[in-house]
Amino acid sequence: MALIDNLLTLYKVDRQVRSLQSRVESAQIYLNVQTKQMDTIAVERAENDQQLMQRKANIAIVETETGSIDSRVEHLREDLNKAVNDKEYKALLAEMNTLKDRRKAFEDEELLEMSAVESLEANATEINTRDEERTKVLQVAQNELQTRQAEIAEQLAELEKERGSAAAVIPEDILADFDEIADDYEGESMASIEIIDKKRKEYSCTSCSLHLPMETVAVLMGSKETVVKCGQCDRILFLEEASREALSPTD
Ligand SMILES: [Zn+2]
Repeated sequence: MALIDNLLTLYKVDRQVRSLQSRVESAQIYLNVQTKQMDTIAVERAENDQQLMQRKANIAIVETETGSIDSRVEHLREDLNKAVNDKEYKALLAEMNTLKDRRKAFEDEELLEMSAVESLEANATEINTRDEERTKVLQVAQNELQTRQAEIAEQLAELEKERGSAAAVIPEDILADFDEIADDYEGESMASIEIIDKKRKEYSCTSCSLHLPMETVAVLMGSKETVVKCGQCDRILFLEEASREALSPTD
């Protein structure tokens, strides 16, 4: 077979391989998005847990403080009963009142800490619910990817083998060029020539609509062994059989 025909064979199978792979790619991208969301939830949970721990530690400190105030007040009360004079009695009473004020301040602080704990615990519940939902979605995404991979595995192996034999007959430098263009254009590495007006010798690239000089068409008509590329989009040009017949000189 001529070079251009070999390239067309490669072009067709290469596009099939790419389209098959793209089915798995979209499932992979979806799974990546889900995994990222799970990571975000894990960070949120860690931050929430950290704050919860801090608040609970604060409550423990406050409770130790109020506990020691209570036992001090207890002692003072006993001393109060044994007070020997008015001066001592007043001093003990004053200390007791100061301690009661401090206790009140600690109680207020504890209430604030407890309400913070309550809202952090509500957050934790909400995070858990979200985590469970996202885990289900993640599972579905993982299954979907596995299913798609399994679905295409056989066909892909077959097509890749076909692609390998199609590529094997193309000269190395032309193949490298072909692969580069195919990567740039997601498989759209070749473009046919459109005959706009045969009499006025007007032709264009079907991919980018660039008007092509008559010489380009003449080269392709003359030889199927020469690679001619579009001057604008760089794709490898070819003539459809129908165009080739239409342009052939009629007897
Ligand atoms: Zn073009």
